Amino acid sequence: MTQQLPSSNWVKWQEGESIDLTIITPQATGFAIHWANNQSQRCTGPNCPFCAAGGQAKQRWSAKVKIGEATKTWEMANLTYQSLYAIADAYGGMMGLNVRVKRTGLGRATRYTIVPLTPMPENPAKRESQAMIGYARELCEAHAIQPKDEFKRFLTDEHPEVRSQPQRRQLQLFIEWLETEYPDVALGEEPLEGTPEDEIVDIDGMFDNF
Ligand SMILES: [Zn+2]
Repeated sequence: MTQQLPSSNWVKWQEGESIDLTIITPQATGFAIHWANNQSQRCTGPNCPFCAAGGQAKQRWSAKVKIGEATKTWEMANLTYQSLYAIADAYGGMMGLNVRVKRTGLGRATRYTIVPLTPMPENPAKRESQAMIGYARELCEAHAIQPKDEFKRFLTDEHPEVRSQPQRRQLQLFIEWLETEYPDVALGEEPLEGTPEDEIVDIDGMFDNF
């Protein structure tokens, strides 16, 4: 299950405010909520009591982001996510994407506009790989684990079958495994999808470069 983070970890915009942030997760996590009893309630799907009562669930998305040095969670409506997704698609993926997000309006008139700050990449796959390495490192550091050693352990003791995968896929599976293994820093519950044909160079040495 998705972890609920303290509300101070959520990105909040004042009306008219712009915030520059970097997405640090390969994919946004989708979920659905109901508004009931004056609060948002997670839709649990087939057995959801709010659906059973005739309530309409709204699609929401969350993504881990960096604002300066702070790691936060950006939770957004589906409309905002669609804009973000379109930009990510053009810029080679969610991970590492640097955007300026501006809020206009209040209440139901609230809108978010997103402008990419990242230059159009020459090599989107490489940029995304580097961002993924950074994210894997961060997950490890949050638990005082050596990323390089942990990655080796992952490939030898935990999931040797992953060795036959392309390097980029190995890294994605490693992140997925870290998030499962250390669930208090996990955000996503969605399986990662990748483009395994996009290789990264020298995965054994990649954690040394930080
Ligand atoms: Zn529901």
